[in-house]
Amino acid sequence: MALMTPEEFEKSLGRMRPKVFMNGKRVESVLSNPNTRTVVESNKASYAWALDPRYSDIMTCHSPLIDETVNRYTHVSGSIEDLVKKAEAGTFTGERLGTCIYRCVGDDSFHALAATTWEMDRDLGTEYHPRFIEYLKMVQRNDLSVAGALTEPRGSRQKRALDWPDPFLSLKLVDKTKDGIIVRGAKINISGAFASHELVVLPQSAHPEDEKDYALAFAVPADAQGITYVCQYSPYSAERELADDVYELGNPVFGQRETSMVIFDNVLVPWERVFHCGESRYALSFVSRFARTHRMTCGGTCKVGFMNQIIGACKLIQEYKGLDKAAHINDQITEMVVLRETGRACGLAAARLGGEDPPGSGVFLPDELMGNVSKLNVCNAFWRTMALAGDIGGGLVVTMPSLKELKNPETKDYVEEFFSFGSDQPTENILKVHKLLQHWTAGQHGVATWHGAGPVMAQKIMIQRVANFDHEKQLVKDTLNLKDKEVKKIEIK
Ligand SMILES: Cc1cc2nc3c(=O)[nH]c(=O)nc-3n(C[C@H](O)[C@H](O)[C@H](O)COP(=O)(O)OP(=O)(O)OC[C@H]3O[C@@H](n4cnc5c(N)ncnc54)[C@H](O)[C@@H]3O)c2cc1C
Repeated sequence: MALMTPEEFEKSLGRMRPKVFMNGKRVESVLSNPNTRTVVESNKASYAWALDPRYSDIMTCHSPLIDETVNRYTHVSGSIEDLVKKAEAGTFTGERLGTCIYRCVGDDSFHALAATTWEMDRDLGTEYHPRFIEYLKMVQRNDLSVAGALTEPRGSRQKRALDWPDPFLSLKLVDKTKDGIIVRGAKINISGAFASHELVVLPQSAHPEDEKDYALAFAVPADAQGITYVCQYSPYSAERELADDVYELGNPVFGQRETSMVIFDNVLVPWERVFHCGESRYALSFVSRFARTHRMTCGGTCKVGFMNQIIGACKLIQEYKGLDKAAHINDQITEMVVLRETGRACGLAAARLGGEDPPGSGVFLPDELMGNVSKLNVCNAFWRTMALAGDIGGGLVVTMPSLKELKNPETKDYVEEFFSFGSDQPTENILKVHKLLQHWTAGQHGVATWHGAGPVMAQKIMIQRVANFDHEKQLVKDTLNLKDKEVKKIEIK
């Protein structure tokens, strides 16, 4: 079995030396910094679940590449069943972490790489596919955590990359040497990269022939020479730094969704790790294959899990407050269930309607239309779910005092008495459930859900590209028995 234990995972990260900065200071160890630690814990959990017989069916699968059991987050789907299991794994992981599944972006990138390197080799006679497969085998054998990086700073959106004053606002080829390629630029908003073993990099967008130096895909160790991480920092980061005990926080162990800017300052990528370099016509294939896979994951799987946490907290608060019979609250919770199930249905449909792409490649991808619909649907469904949860939770979701008051002899008794709702539950539990809802409704999740896997306009553009209305128009023509107009040729005498 090619599976690491959680302890081995932590040890392996401890051997790495990524250059990480947060809040203006160097992070000496991602294992001990309280904010980067949340990513370590999240990834660690994925190793523990894979080894747990209760969850191994979801979290592991057989890899035909190395003929061993591997973590599902290192596997490229080779069937519809694989895609369905991948969707189930997304919900399972999302609902237990209550934050980003950091390993999913890398795995979704593997799907795009497997399909598009195969296609390039077929069309162009390149040798990227076997190179990528060797890399993937190495990832599987060593059970590595891999982050995925596409999003770039970019210059003015009205101008082409060649017209930007700084050509490195998208990641760019600097040089080709006998050892590999040298790249410079940055990727932004990258989930969990500093606590991963590897980074896989794909282009962010299509590139015409004259922008071929931006058409790049490759993999590097997360602590490769020349890579620097500048982490996000928010009031939630500060709150975690100040916590005496993580159980004062809304998501105690796994935290907020942690991202960073990843700077590539003349990074050398050895040739055996380069999977696309200059074949600009294929840049869009990487992006769109990644997008349909990741939009199924982000739209129709992890958010379903997140909604389970929100619904659970609302039900508990309903009970604490004696609101079980309040018809409008039951109605709101029913609406949440419908939003959640619609999300789940989109994810499962994207998986079930998926197929081999390109035909003959052995790579199975979610259905492009439903993948994009999954993400577009959840953007609004998640805001709505948060709004409903805010109503049920009441003002306390944002006005609650610190859980530290329960340890302060001067305030403890007051807090325990006046936030008890007269219920038979410990006030500490009541406050903790409100704190969890604060994490969901008043934190980063609204914007994060909107933009993660691309803003809504990106899904709409894809849907407009894929949706072909010939079938619908023909239906109407058949229903009405419409005939095409006979074009009479007018003869001019
Ligand atoms: C929590 C979180 C985690 C993420 N994790 C990852 C990750 O692991 N890997 C990764 O690669 N990315 C990741 N992302 C990045 C995510 O994919 C981007 O945030 C998203 O694609 C939007 O890009 P942007 O943030 O640069 O916003 P922008 O692109 O600046 O979008 C802002 C607005 O401008 C509009 N806009 C942008 N460009 C144009 C244009 N040319 N014409 C017209 N309108 C335009 C958009 O539609 C939107 O309305 C993550 C994002 C978040 C929030």
